[in-house]
Amino acid sequence: MGLSLHSGGHLTHGLRQNVSAKMMRAVTYSVDPKTHLLDYQAIRKMAHKEKPLILLAGFSAYSRRINFAKMREIADEVGAVLMVDMAHFAGLVAGKVFQGEEDPIPYAHVVTTTTHKTLRGPRGGMILAQNEFAESINKGCPLILGGPLPHVMAAKAVAFKEALSPAFQTYAHKIVENARALAEGLKKRHLTVVTGGTDNHLMIIDLSSLGMTGRIGETALRESGITANRNMIPFDPQGAWNTSGIRIGPTALTTLGMTGVEMDEIAAIIALVLQNTKPVHLAETGQPSKTRGETPLKIKEEAKARVASLLHRFPLYAEIQV
Ligand SMILES: *Cc1c(COP(=O)(O)O)cnc(C)c1O
Repeated sequence: MGLSLHSGGHLTHGLRQNVSAKMMRAVTYSVDPKTHLLDYQAIRKMAHKEKPLILLAGFSAYSRRINFAKMREIADEVGAVLMVDMAHFAGLVAGKVFQGEEDPIPYAHVVTTTTHKTLRGPRGGMILAQNEFAESINKGCPLILGGPLPHVMAAKAVAFKEALSPAFQTYAHKIVENARALAEGLKKRHLTVVTGGTDNHLMIIDLSSLGMTGRIGETALRESGITANRNMIPFDPQGAWNTSGIRIGPTALTTLGMTGVEMDEIAAIIALVLQNTKPVHLAETGQPSKTRGETPLKIKEEAKARVASLLHRFPLYAEIQV
């Protein structure tokens, strides 16, 4: 029993088309339809009805924090294993932003993560588990895992060492500060942010009031020098393919050394592009296209110049700039 895709859950948390839902009888809980926040009472009610083997907490597109003590309480009430997939926010756990009841480690029976997101390591994964689950988890080899990748193991060791340093804690806290500044910058310019902001490293911009899909917004931003991905908003009427949202976060920008001033400038560029993009109207039906939009060339050029100026001041690799 995991979080639904439109609420910010991951494909592997029981989406019908994913192998996770073929191996298990998958059921999903969703965020509250009004607040778009996790509703622990509703989760508890569903858990009592469904009696899941595994209660899964974690997300790829939810801009708030989870109370893992409450999730564990619910799991215990129904005899479920609490599994936390912290793939997205492991860096905020290691960096001690998520503490107390927001830290999954003391509460979960099993914790899975990637090592390549906020943990800032190589592409890969890691499973932490209480002893009683070690034997079954170790059956992952040969059941679902391929051979070991020793070079990736070495890179993970480096990432873990970095994550233990005081500098990483500073980095993790700055990510959240920057994310909040970015969300404020967007809201100040009348863009809608799902749940009204963020308490972690990401946010979803809701484009529905601009009359365009996430797919159109994503393309307009890409053509303006900004890479972002389209993402569903809760209960998205546009579905998973076109979507109504854009997901962004400042983790890499924070590594480059950017702070609140730059977040505000980035919010301004994003607003400039999105607010000047319109869906193309289809000749046959007169309806707005869900896939094709138009942004004036002048706007795209201004955006690209402002992006270039930011990157000039915060180069990706100073030593290999041409
Ligand atoms: C990214 C992610 C994964 C793993 O996906 P990859 O395709 O291996 O990067 C698993 N769970 C969650 C919640 C994720 O966000």
